[in-house]
Order: sequence, then structure tokens, then C-alpha cells
Amino acid sequence: MTRTVVVGGGPAGLAAAYRLAQHADQSVLLLERAPVLGGLAAGFRHGDATLDFGPHRLHAGTDPEVLADLRRLLGDELELRPRRGQIRLAGRFLPYPVGPTTLLMLGPRQVVQLGVGVLAARLPRPAAAPVSYEAALQARLGAPLYRLFYGPYAEKVWGLPGSQIAADQAERRVNQRGLADLLRLALGRSSGRHYFYPRGGFGRIPAAYAQALASAPAARLACSALVETVEWQPGRVRALRYAQDGNPARAGADHLIWTAPLPELVRRLDPPAPPDIQQAAASLRHRAVVLCYVALALPRVGQADTYYFPERRFPFNRVTEQKNFSPAMVPPERTVLCLDLACDPDDARFTASDEELRDLVLPALEEAGLARPRQVIEVFSRRFRQAYPVYDLRYRAALAHVQDWLAGFQNLWLVGRQGLFLHNNTHHSLLMGYRAADAIASGDRGQWPAALAHFATFRVAD
Ligand SMILES: Cc1cc2nc3c(=O)[nH]c(=O)nc-3n(C[C@H](O)[C@H](O)[C@H](O)COP(=O)(O)OP(=O)(O)OC[C@H]3O[C@@H](n4cnc5c(N)ncnc54)[C@H](O)[C@@H]3O)c2cc1C
Repeated sequence: MTRTVVVGGGPAGLAAAYRLAQHADQSVLLLERAPVLGGLAAGFRHGDATLDFGPHRLHAGTDPEVLADLRRLLGDELELRPRRGQIRLAGRFLPYPVGPTTLLMLGPRQVVQLGVGVLAARLPRPAAAPVSYEAALQARLGAPLYRLFYGPYAEKVWGLPGSQIAADQAERRVNQRGLADLLRLALGRSSGRHYFYPRGGFGRIPAAYAQALASAPAARLACSALVETVEWQPGRVRALRYAQDGNPARAGADHLIWTAPLPELVRRLDPPAPPDIQQAAASLRHRAVVLCYVALALPRVGQADTYYFPERRFPFNRVTEQKNFSPAMVPPERTVLCLDLACDPDDARFTASDEELRDLVLPALEEAGLARPRQVIEVFSRRFRQAYPVYDLRYRAALAHVQDWLAGFQNLWLVGRQGLFLHNNTHHSLLMGYRAADAIASGDRGQWPAALAHFATFRVAD
């Protein structure tokens, strides 16, 4: 039996364990720090409502292999739904994803201004590669469009001006490559107008993997299990020490699939990693997210599933109305909005009380016409310290240094959003988990560089 330890019970870890458990000669132990499985993609019950951690949808670009498994695991619970979004710009809500109506509502003056910006960006210019997100996007889509949407939105997510965000994020985050893509978008012909969603909530996706694993004889899932130490010798991970519900335990590992944050792996190595590796890993930062839920005494706020707020004066990035993803999740006479606020983990917002959050968000919700104070039944929150990897101008060199060193470990497999420090979608993490499991089960590490190269091509959808 080959023994694999999987660290992290989010989509990446669950998918890896699920795939490994299909092989008779593989045993798998999954260790999850939290009391429940699912990571950022989990859901939770609050009173008689089921809620997601912010807006979560399964994007239509999901790899067919992953989608086939999800259809098998979830059956007809997995529905295809039309996207209904709105974006708040200059005091109005416009349809999102962008289409002809959005342009009509923007008005001819602004459309011409944006169009001139796009055309100006196509003029010949010096061939030097852009160094920042701002420079890369302005070169691709023009300055007016960047200033209207892409710049402010990225600044809210990462807490950095676009000139301080790495240029490669323009590739990863923005699917519009130039004029042809913008035209397709303007005509309402871009992809991403539909998404998959399980009727019982997004958390049904990780829950379905966990359910399937529960009946696998050679798989063990351990929650409230915090990995404390990773023992290694040159070229190999040997074992992990962890505390489950406070009780110390040790597990030997023929393989380790690590889906928890990468800096944490380096911090937990025993013996310690060389000082330069520790320093590089410590410089890799995450942005946190506060999810502020506002329960309202009315059946529905509107038809949109998600409202986008790129403008700085709104403290939240997005507002989602949970029952517009799936009506059964919230009782008919009430509705729940979820507001996501990105912040730094040491920001006062991250530790703000629910009362303080209420004071912060309600005036903005009221200004946007989404809620009135007298409708509010309750404000409550959930928080994640490590939600978004931060891609400043120095991250690339630091990440490469750490990854190159860790590549010397022949039985270590870094996957997932946290393990690879790669901002991604759930379906990407699921596929990564599959690929790591396939490589282990086949005994062929030779296929791993090609898999990593494929992961680097993933594009994030909102
Ligand atoms: C607000 C928000 C909205 C999003 N919307 C979408 C969307 O619409 N569609 C979409 O596809 N994706 C969306 N995503 C992204 C999606 O949630 C992630 O891509 C996905 O959850 C990543 O899965 P993962 O397993 O790689 O990482 P995670 O879900 O982060 O799982 C990592 C796990 O490791 C555990 N862990 C950490 N340290 C330890 C330790 N020392 N020991 C044991 N366990 C540990 C954590 O508790 C966690 O459960 C969104 C993310 C956010 C934050």
C-alpha cells in the first residue's frame, strides 16, 4: 500500500483524496485544520438558511473530466443557471456581464471615450514588456477602460495600486485580450453567461466528494487536525506531526499532497529550511476577506445574483443575494445578502465586530438601494485570513525561489490555490487534485512538470 497524506480539505485536497481512493493499492489520510471540510468552497447553516462563503459559482469552463464526476456525484442537483449580475458605476447599476444594454446605458459619450482608448492602445509602441498590471492592461485595453473598471476593482481586491501589482495578473485575471474580445463582450457573445450551481448550495460540491470518500475503505478524513510539523530528509518528506482536537499524532508518508498555504509548509519544516528559503516564503503575503451577511425582512432584494462595486467609496467588492443562486437556500419571507470585503489580515476591518461592520456597510447598502436599516434582521460575519495570494512586484522571484527548492522533494506535491500560491477557481483546484493523484498512482513523476505548466495557463473567472 502506498500511503499518501493530503493536507487541506478544500476542493484540491478532497479531489486528490477521492481520486487516490479509487486505486486498490493506495491509502490516503486527509488532514484538515478546520472542524469542517470544504475550505473556501464550503457552505454553512445559519438558522434555517444555507449560505456560501461569498459568491461561488461553478464556471462553465470546468474541465469535462471534473464536470462528469460532479454530475455523477450530484445528479440532477447540479443546475445550469443564467448569470444575472449588475455593476455599479457612477451612481447606476448596469447589466453584468457586459452586453449591448450595458453600453446603451453607459451612454454614447463614455462609449466613444472607451473606444478611443482601446484604439489608441493598438498604436505601435516600444516593445518593452509591461512591468505592472496597470501598464499591461492599459497597453491591451486602453487607459479609460482600465480606470473605469479593471484598475479600481483590482486595487480593492489586492489593496495595492495597479502599478504595484505584477503584470502577469493581467494575463491571469482578465480574459479580454484586445479589440475582438471587447467586441464580443459588447455584443453579449462572450463566454461565461451561464454557470453551474448545486441546488443545495455550493458547499454541496466539497460535501459530495467527502461523502464519496466516507465509504472508501482505505481513506481517512480527519477534521480539526492541524499539521504542526513536516519531517524531511534531503529529497523526501518522511512524516507529519499533527494535533487532532488537541491530541498529538504522527503519520508516516510515502507522499505528501500539500494544499494548505505554501508559506506555512516552509514554516513547519523540521529540520528548518535554509534561511533564504524561509525569508522568501515569509515574503509571500495573502489578503484576507471578511464576509458580512445581512439578513433582511423582505422576500427578495432584486433579480441579480451578484452586484459588483469597483468604486472605492463602497467598502465591499461584491454583494450577493443567496436565494438568487438557489431559491430553496433561504426561507421565502426573508433574504440574505453577503458582502465581501477584502482587507489585510492586520487591518482593523478583519477584527471589526459585527456591530462595527453593520455601521460600515449599511450606509453604503442604503446608498446603492439594496437595503434599508429598518429591514435589517441581523448582521453576522465569517472571515478568512488567507483568501487571495498577493501578487506584488516582487512575488515572482520569491515564489520561484521557494518552488525551485521544494521541487527537490520527490514525494511532495504542491497543489491548489494555497499550495501553489495561485489565485484560481474551484474547478481548477479539483483538476489539480486529480492530476497529483494520477501522478502518484502511476508512479511517474515525469508527468508533473507538464501538469504544472498546464495549471499556469488557468484563467480566473469572477
Ligand atoms: C470570496 C470568494 C469567492 C469565490 N468565488 C468563486 C467562484 O464563484 N467560483 C469558483 O470556482 N471559485 C471561487 N472562489 C475560489 C475558490 O473558493 C477556491 O478556488 C477554492 O476553494 C480553492 O480550493 P483549495 O482546496 O485549493 O483551497 P482552500 O479552499 O483554501 O482549502 C485549503 C484548506 O487547507 C486547510 N489548511 C490550512 N492550513 C492547514 C494546516 N496547517 N493543517 C491542515 N489543514 C490546513 C484550510 O483550512 C482549507 O480548508 C472564491 C473565493 C473567495 C475567497
